[in-house]
Amino acid sequence: MSSHSLQVGRLFGIPVRAHVSWLLLFALATATLAGIYFPTYYPQWPQGVHYALGLATSLLLFASVLLHELAHSLVARHQGLHVQGIVLFLLGGVSEISSEPSTPGAELVMAIAGPVASLAAGAVCALLWLPAMLQGHGQPLAAVLGYVCGINLSLGLFNLIPGFPLDGGRVLRAILWQRSHNLEWATRWATRAARLIAVLCIACGAWQGVTTSLLNGLWLAAIGCFLDTTARAGYQQVLIQTRLAGHTVAEIMIRDCPALSPDRSLQEIADQGLLQGACHGLPLVENGALLGVLTPQRLQAQPRHEWPRRTARQAMIPAGELHITRPSQTLLEAVNALTGDNAPPLPVLEDGQLVGMLTPERVVAFLKLQASVSG
Ligand SMILES: [Zn+2]
Repeated sequence: MSSHSLQVGRLFGIPVRAHVSWLLLFALATATLAGIYFPTYYPQWPQGVHYALGLATSLLLFASVLLHELAHSLVARHQGLHVQGIVLFLLGGVSEISSEPSTPGAELVMAIAGPVASLAAGAVCALLWLPAMLQGHGQPLAAVLGYVCGINLSLGLFNLIPGFPLDGGRVLRAILWQRSHNLEWATRWATRAARLIAVLCIACGAWQGVTTSLLNGLWLAAIGCFLDTTARAGYQQVLIQTRLAGHTVAEIMIRDCPALSPDRSLQEIADQGLLQGACHGLPLVENGALLGVLTPQRLQAQPRHEWPRRTARQAMIPAGELHITRPSQTLLEAVNALTGDNAPPLPVLEDGQLVGMLTPERVVAFLKLQASVSG
């Protein structure tokens, strides 16, 4: 999420970034409000007012999502968790918090903070909107307040749906966790609740689409699909986090990866199948210092007729471009550098000396082993 996003500011020391998809939402929301919503409901107002209100309402929409995430982030920080930032994207916002809360109580307060902030903002808007309404419907300020009130109430209520990883699902998980003292079990059931709700949304959407309104039906079905996808992804992420937690690189690194001489020819390396071992990329060491890593992908990227003339040094990924880890680093931190297709193995250094390599395959094997142990 951090890639393709640009920082738009800082609030209480927390960086706020906007994902490129959010710019799309902002433009779409402004155009819809200025071009369709306000002209439909308030045709008596001039076009300039429609545009101004469209922009103002979009900005308040942005502020509403930000307020919701800020509430999560501030509570998380109060609980001692590290908040990397808030990212706004097409479907709303996300608080990037580097670890999961350590107790059910902490999880509950953190999860409920967002919807409480949204519902409170909705209530404040309603209180301001009411007098404006009573003085005569149709004033621009009342129109904006009414809309923003609706947005905040929907934001609060939608997020209270009791399916993980939505806020309501996190509340449900906290309760199950408190009762069972088993985070993985609690996450499994909070995810099942989400998937059940998703199926109900899709079924109701299909029914509504056929019987009453195709557009509303499609919306409901889309929400169901979104909920199902996020539930599955959220569950996988938690599984990986809980299974890696408390383990270090030293436990699973490969200690006997042979170092490659930097001056060996690529042809020789290919002929001897040196890159086909478990290490999936070999370290190049010269005078005791790590020069880089040669992976099968880097070898294949070289023109085949050049293999006899080119050396490992010419094809390697230089050490400066590699993520380096150390034996005492937690697996949770180290695996972040291993994600992505064809990620090269991580050299493990201790006091400047190469002591092992950490490969994606090792991490996957470790996760499978943990899964079989925990049943
Ligand atoms: Zn939330």
